[in-house]
Amino acid sequence: MIRHALFAVVLLAAAGAGTAWAQSASDARALAALSDKELMKLPAKKVFGSVEEPTENMKSRAIGFYSRGCMSGGKALPVDGPAWQAIHLSRNRYWGQPQMVALVERLATEAKAEDGWNGLLVGDLSQPRGGPMPSGHASHQVGLDADIWLTEMPDRKLSRKEREEIPRISVVKDRKTIDKSVWTEKHARLIKRAASYPAVARIFVHPPIKAELCKWATGDRSWLAKVRPYYGHNYHFHIRIRCPDGSTNCKDQPEARPEDGTGCGKELAYWLGNAPWGSEKKQPEKKPAKPVKPPPPLTLAALPAECRAVVTAE
Ligand SMILES: [Zn+2]
Repeated sequence: MIRHALFAVVLLAAAGAGTAWAQSASDARALAALSDKELMKLPAKKVFGSVEEPTENMKSRAIGFYSRGCMSGGKALPVDGPAWQAIHLSRNRYWGQPQMVALVERLATEAKAEDGWNGLLVGDLSQPRGGPMPSGHASHQVGLDADIWLTEMPDRKLSRKEREEIPRISVVKDRKTIDKSVWTEKHARLIKRAASYPAVARIFVHPPIKAELCKWATGDRSWLAKVRPYYGHNYHFHIRIRCPDGSTNCKDQPEARPEDGTGCGKELAYWLGNAPWGSEKKQPEKKPAKPVKPPPPLTLAALPAECRAVVTAE
């Protein structure tokens, strides 16, 4: 808490507010002591990134959209389970809505029992109260996203330090080709299992992984529709679940409905070839335009109003 109290001083100095926050026993309580005006000016990623505990007395609810929201009643994924280990514990991002946590546990257990996958290494879910994060991820804000590594859990319990430094092993050679020295059928079975759960809305994988799954899948191929090609998912894949019942202010993404039913045709071809960032050819360098000022970070005012209550609640 001390680290965050210090951080609060910096934040408040930046926001031109007093020192009430820094002197308080808890970050959330300190935030609650701020005036509306002060609170709304704070960068949302710093506010949500500084609160270390979930809300205590609020019902579990996902609030807003995957990339602009927060959550109440977050639940922690136990860092060690019979078929999983959470990694990067220092980030404190192993929190999710109860349905997300349960789904990760179920996937871990079933994949171990049925798919020959030794257990999951679980990367980021969300912060204790969701919200934007100080680093990485545009989404993961409402407790309905989880990153699962494409590396099996080892047979032993990893130390805290090992969990911080776990190597990122890519399953692809380049933007178009799977690395057959790393990729196995077990990877395919794991992703298929995740995509087959009705609660799952989307799964993101690096484009060559989708191509490999399209080649591999036989029988009912409808699950492939949910597996979306997206760069940056070559050593982990991303599971996104639907808004749970009862989360009335949660906004679902439109259903993934590729024209051909699987997304293995035109859509995949686009990602493998014609997407502007997918081209293997180097783009001719443009003359640098005037330096563009990056947009200011999202303030609390840009999130659903309910998120203010969430971040200041006990
Ligand atoms: Zn992710």
